[in-house]
Amino acid sequence: MIAEILCIGTELLMGQVLNTNAQFLSRRLSALGVSQYHQTVVGDNAQRLEDAYRLALSRADVVITSGGLGPTVDDITKRVAAKVAGKELVLFPEAEEAIRARFRRYGRPMTENNLSQAMFTPDTTLLPNPNGTAPGAIVPMGEGKVVIHLPGPPNELQPMWIDQAEPWLQQRSGKVMVSRYIRIFGMGESQVDELLSDLEMGGNPTLSPYCSPGEVMLRATACADDAAAAEALLLPLIGEVQKRLGDVIYAIEEDDTGSLARCAVEALKRRGWTIATAESLTGGLMASSMVEIPGASAVVNGGFVTYQTVSKTMLVDVPAELIEKYDVVSAEVAYAMAEGARKRLGTDIAISATGLAGPDGGTPEKPVGTVFVGISTPERTRVLPLRLVGDRLRIRTLTMKHAMNAVRIEAERM
Ligand code: AMP
Ligand code: MG
Repeated sequence: MIAEILCIGTELLMGQVLNTNAQFLSRRLSALGVSQYHQTVVGDNAQRLEDAYRLALSRADVVITSGGLGPTVDDITKRVAAKVAGKELVLFPEAEEAIRARFRRYGRPMTENNLSQAMFTPDTTLLPNPNGTAPGAIVPMGEGKVVIHLPGPPNELQPMWIDQAEPWLQQRSGKVMVSRYIRIFGMGESQVDELLSDLEMGGNPTLSPYCSPGEVMLRATACADDAAAAEALLLPLIGEVQKRLGDVIYAIEEDDTGSLARCAVEALKRRGWTIATAESLTGGLMASSMVEIPGASAVVNGGFVTYQTVSKTMLVDVPAELIEKYDVVSAEVAYAMAEGARKRLGTDIAISATGLAGPDGGTPEKPVGTVFVGISTPERTRVLPLRLVGDRLRIRTLTMKHAMNAVRIEAERM
């Protein structure tokens, strides 16, 4: 099955609204194993939209639209699709009643133009919209092709897609897709690719890499008649990936919402440990990335943002002479920051980071990207010396990720 996303709205072309619906739908489609070869954004213009429909229908089985289902004159999505299908829009009484009920509930009078939201071609399957006025629709376009209309607002589009459109698509294909997300830290994309390239050629299951700063993710997807059969197809593939990549794999999960911080927090929870932070260049990012995880309060005690040199002494007891002797960006200072934070808050573990995020301040001996991450437990304190590459945001993000990975490893160490 080939799908194509068609986002409708002049605001998208003007850059006033970021096209997050395309990203959401693309991710969901690829998790389902549905191919996409093109995407289009078109303004609220009937002729250009008609052309876009005809082109998309010439090359895809399912065309998914976002936007333009509302009651105003610029909402032309359904009308133009009906024209392309050669059909008329008619009023659907159940959709009309749902819209009237919605207005009654909000105690507002309904203007007549709202009825356009209840008009569809006769062979349409409605997708009720519990979060808004305009229902979605699945519209047959001939030759076995369909258009799926979704409302523009992401809070309406997303649940409608997940709860209604996806089950419909799966049923139509008669197959079940199962995916696993393999998360990798500490190996670059090209190296991962080189080690796995033969596995990435497979048709079913498929294995596809994608990345975020410092991380590589692999999505393994299998398609079969039922979930158990799909899982059975995935198992040997995942086993082979594990064999080839070893312990750079930090998680294998059923969705792609994971993160190093989540794994760190979960590892701390399993171990029953509390954590403190002492952060220079990350300025709170390490603490914040853990606090983002629900339930972090069980493990995150607190932290220190020790940005200027003096605060490293005042807040986490790094001796001024040590800083003087070794420089503020040094393994010795990272070590002392981690120990100091742990002792100040009495936690089981503490992490620290000191380094040069740039763009200024680098020297030939200590270029921008020189970073030291400290990890301290009562048993041992150690320092990771890092040479990171990238802009300020990337260096700070990578520092946080290295620290989270170190926490995870330390908490899992027996
Ligand atoms: P519409 O259904 O075309 O009236 O769109 C309603 C609102 O949904 C727009 O004003 C945007 O705020 C939002 N919206 C529409 N299309 C998208 C999109 N592709 N991505 C994110 N938001 C969108
Ligand atoms: Mg619009």
